[in-house]
Amino acid sequence: MEKTIRIGKHNVDPVLFERSFAAGCGPFACESTCCSFGVYADLAEKEKILAHREIIKKYLDETQTTDDTRWFDPEVVDDSDFPSGKAVGTEVFNGKCVFLNKAGRCSLQIAGSEEKLGRWALKPFYCVAFPITVDDGVVTFDDLLDKKPACCSFVDGRESSIVTACKEELEFVLGSAGYDELVELHSGTDGNKSLFHLGKIEIKVKTRMITTQLEHNVALVTGGTRGIGRAIVLALAEAGADVAFTYRSSKEAAETLKAEVRAMGRRTAGYQSDAADSAQAIDIVQKVVQEFGRLDILVNNAGSQKTGS
Ligand code: SF4
Repeated sequence: MEKTIRIGKHNVDPVLFERSFAAGCGPFACESTCCSFGVYADLAEKEKILAHREIIKKYLDETQTTDDTRWFDPEVVDDSDFPSGKAVGTEVFNGKCVFLNKAGRCSLQIAGSEEKLGRWALKPFYCVAFPITVDDGVVTFDDLLDKKPACCSFVDGRESSIVTACKEELEFVLGSAGYDELVELHSGTDGNKSLFHLGKIEIKVKTRMITTQLEHNVALVTGGTRGIGRAIVLALAEAGADVAFTYRSSKEAAETLKAEVRAMGRRTAGYQSDAADSAQAIDIVQKVVQEFGRLDILVNNAGSQKTGS
């Protein structure tokens, strides 16, 4: 492995900056395929799960087993990447991790949420972090499923960067200050990010400046699929906002843009609309409020032109 980056107490693999998910993919599009193999948990995590066995059993279905002696492999392995230095695998039962229910959801997470313990309180570290992992003391990504399900395929470049797509997982592993530092370094790897061109002028936005400033905001951009409108949609999404947009005719461009926004972990919607029709404009605003629950930012980018005298 090439030289690692030091962030707080962690050594981080620079490969996180170099590879990406395919467009529209990331942990938010997870289909729990990796859960078919089970997972290694620290011995302390195993004990915590067993201490909560009775509440966990309430959230198991007929494809799982309530026999808790069958939840973990009998053998314990030495592994220095676990706090205790010892790990144990969850059993595979009915072709999947014993804790994966028939709907493809983790019963440990469901139990944690439903019992108000915290959604990750019972989940092993490596499940919460995946596809981020710690390998020989280095924080990196796990390419276990690379090229199997489409959304686990990693590509070179920044189609949907691992740093952005795995924000939640990296914050879990590095802490929020560590994640901010990682983002800072990430934006520094190509300096200011080029967003679009106006003639010969290149417009750049400093990624660090806008990251996370708009979380929990909902934006609407009119004329969002082309040129500056498109760049604004992506910049708002990168800044943390959920972004709806309107477009005049190209459904295909709208679908591509939606996939890009989703790849950043944001919600999005595209509405076909004529900017010159004020009744349609009112209708779109109502739709956004209905779908997203609010509207904080309106970017009136689409132009309309009246002809005649
Ligand atoms: S413990 Fe939960 S998240 Fe982890 S492998 Fe099993 S089902 Fe998947």
